Amino acid sequence: MEKSKSVWQQIDANTNKEIFEYSEKYKSFLDKAKTERLATQEIIRQAKEKGFISLEEALKKGIEKNDKIYLNNKNKSAVLMVMGDNLEEGMNIVGSHLDAPRLDLKANPIYEQADMVLAKTHYYGGIKKFQWPTIQLALHGYFIDKDGNEVNVSIGEKDDDPVFYINDILPHLGATQNEKKLSEAVPAESLNVVLGHSSYGVSDENPIKTSVLKYLKDNYNLDEDDFKVAEFEIVPAAKARDVGFDRAMIAAHGQDDRVCSFANLEAILNVDNPKLTAVGLFVDKEEIGSVGNTSMKAKFFENMVAEILASKGNYSDILLRRAMEKSHVLSADVTAAYDPDHDYAFEKLNTALVGHGVTMSKYTGSRGKSGSNDANPEFLAKLRNLFNKNKVIWQTGELGKVDQGGGGTIAFILAEHGAEVVDMGTAMLSMHAPVELLSKADAYMTYKAYEVFLNQFE
Ligand code: MN
Ligand code: MN
Repeated sequence: MEKSKSVWQQIDANTNKEIFEYSEKYKSFLDKAKTERLATQEIIRQAKEKGFISLEEALKKGIEKNDKIYLNNKNKSAVLMVMGDNLEEGMNIVGSHLDAPRLDLKANPIYEQADMVLAKTHYYGGIKKFQWPTIQLALHGYFIDKDGNEVNVSIGEKDDDPVFYINDILPHLGATQNEKKLSEAVPAESLNVVLGHSSYGVSDENPIKTSVLKYLKDNYNLDEDDFKVAEFEIVPAAKARDVGFDRAMIAAHGQDDRVCSFANLEAILNVDNPKLTAVGLFVDKEEIGSVGNTSMKAKFFENMVAEILASKGNYSDILLRRAMEKSHVLSADVTAAYDPDHDYAFEKLNTALVGHGVTMSKYTGSRGKSGSNDANPEFLAKLRNLFNKNKVIWQTGELGKVDQGGGGTIAFILAEHGAEVVDMGTAMLSMHAPVELLSKADAYMTYKAYEVFLNQFE
């Protein structure tokens, strides 16, 4: 098979310029959207700015063609919808996720030991635990205090903020650790985050803990027992940065799947007067199996479609089923790009290459496509024609060698309604690492793919 040309080898000066302009907007989104909650906030802020109104407002005024509607689902997932001619004819849907692998604080996190105050964590999603010690970390939290006020905590993102830190054993004393398997070298219960050290001015039994709790009380009205009812996430403190002399790549936390989420957002904000209703889905909890009421398996999107159908009168269940079944879906998630330093894990003919455009994965899954949505050729042929006509540069990619591992996405969930679904997203390096790497050309082609799909697919 002939090696495909990279995006950089195929574009003109104008597209090259657009790639870099798009990347600036994307990096600024990454820096604002470091948790699913912050991402939801930013998505809805941008949507409102572009004239989207809430589902409640839309229902109240009566829904019409080309109405732009948002749904905020519990502040951790969202739907943006641009109304087409007739909902029963189905929708064009791009579905991405906002959650990313990270560390969460436990309900009773804080303890004092060896003249430090530390916090217990429980990791979220598939991390390599040894990657998290000795990097600078930020803390993002949300809780409702005893007076009923919402409190947002964000420490470690500004240049003059303090950061947090997880210790690792020094190499001089690393003999025991070196003997262990990589997966066991850093146990989950050793991922404890340093929150403070000074006992100055306090002389009780746990003076450092007392000082840290006093700081939290004074600044956030947070008592120790508020952690029991709060959500606190630990993420790398790093901002999104350009990589390489040519600045053609981006390193940042949470690009799985915020690269597709931002492309999805930019695309749906650029939809106007579509024939078929266009939908951008931004869901939570993909990384832990799409469970819970903010995930793709929750019914909030279906309920939204039902509410809109019901608002036209004569609601029946079959109208909802038709709208879902006749839909077309791009499951917008990242895949693995070929990594020459770990060549053994990839099968070169069928792995995505960094910089070769948005990646179509007919199927995902592991060990014989288990857990996969395997897309239908009738649907894929239409997508190929649409992308080729609109100069969307795309490639195919399978997640590594058969039987090396595997992974899944939200694709199968929407397929259960009978919708046509295929995985279409950005290939990346070092997926699920604290900081992940991808090509600006691929991020941009992902956006182009979603934009032409939402506006034009029939
Ligand atoms: Mn993902
Ligand atoms: Mn993932």
